[in-house]
Amino acid sequence: MEAVDNMIDARWLITSEHKNTVLENHALVIKNGIIKDILPTQQAITLYQTKNIEEYANHVILPGFINTHTHIAMNLFRGYADDLALMKWLNDFIWPAERRWVSHEFVYDASRLAIAEMIRSGTTCFNDMYFFLQATAEAVDQAGVRASIGITAIDFPTAWAKTIDEYLEKGLEFYAQYKNHARIRTTLAPQSIYTVAEPNLEKIKKIAEDNHLRINIHLHETQDEINQSLAQTKQRPIRRLQNIGLLTPDLIAVHMVHVNEEDLEILKATRPQIVHCPESNMKLASGACPVVTYQNLGLNVALGTDGAASNNDLDMITEMRSANFLAKLTTHNPAALPAIDTITMATLNGAKALGIDQMTGSLTKGKAADFIAIKLDEIETLPLYHPASQIVYAASRNQVSDVWVAGKQLMKNRELLTLNEEEIKAKAIEWEKKLLKKS
Ligand SMILES: [Zn+2]
Repeated sequence: MEAVDNMIDARWLITSEHKNTVLENHALVIKNGIIKDILPTQQAITLYQTKNIEEYANHVILPGFINTHTHIAMNLFRGYADDLALMKWLNDFIWPAERRWVSHEFVYDASRLAIAEMIRSGTTCFNDMYFFLQATAEAVDQAGVRASIGITAIDFPTAWAKTIDEYLEKGLEFYAQYKNHARIRTTLAPQSIYTVAEPNLEKIKKIAEDNHLRINIHLHETQDEINQSLAQTKQRPIRRLQNIGLLTPDLIAVHMVHVNEEDLEILKATRPQIVHCPESNMKLASGACPVVTYQNLGLNVALGTDGAASNNDLDMITEMRSANFLAKLTTHNPAALPAIDTITMATLNGAKALGIDQMTGSLTKGKAADFIAIKLDEIETLPLYHPASQIVYAASRNQVSDVWVAGKQLMKNRELLTLNEEEIKAKAIEWEKKLLKKS
């Protein structure tokens, strides 16, 4: 019998692999933070030896959610300005508040608040775009989650940097500091085509190629963005990115709400990664991303919440539900985006978008043991005919009971093991008082 670290005996197990069959009474066998095996529990106990067999008799075990688009430090702006159109929201509220408040300390406190919220809702990895990257990385390092942290670049000054060269210089320093970290990846993150000029996008492309980094950008989020681009250059943003050579499978295109036939032809030929943020798009009335059209073209579509200031939470369970309902509503087809495929979108597709699907995103031999348990024997999720339906259509994030990353447990029966919940709450209230006083 081979000695292993632990064994999770799961009533149900969703792997996000193999067209997603739900396994019953299977064990997840873990050794050195890696999934050693997945097999019927009865068989596992005859092959592997461990003192740590944990029974999850009323739970479904599944890969941790991958929130593929966030601005986690915006958690401290949650509820600060709501019910506004994107450009008014940014110009009159968010950007001035960011200029006034954002600092290393702000981003660190906000990141811990956001990561605590993410762990409590089953997210084990996120893809971020913000400023003061070291502050976010410090919080990630302590919390034990995974993150892909974007080197944000924008043509106007912020508290983080004054010029595009300063953004990139600071970003590359960050990359050098963290490139060997086991759980932290770096991307380049030009904010959008309307805030980063084309020569600067070319500069960013060169850096990305030299360092083999993915590029993350908000794209075709609103009709205004496209109209502005047409007025200035007679070309749509997608076409302009293609001309620069940025539209490749290494581009993470966030939002992609508005597309025409010409855009779809370009996307089909260039195959960027697409990130769907349904709740942010609905709240800002940006529109509905044509997820089913993209899937029919064979494009990878991942799921993100966007920042908590435009959502207003980092809850991947409600995000799945929104994505699912919106796909059905916009196609007038109740069979669009089945529950189990929605879970794949929130897990494996996120890992593919970030280029880390060799390591995480699904439960299979050899991948990192990044997984969660959702307790389903609650009033809200009984009776139980199909665990995937129950997760997507009925469960709440409060039913996420346990979370592990690389085999290390980060939450046990709703208790955070790596972060101090009371301290994080106290800091959030401190910031709330400061922001209220000045505004
Ligand atoms: Zn965003």
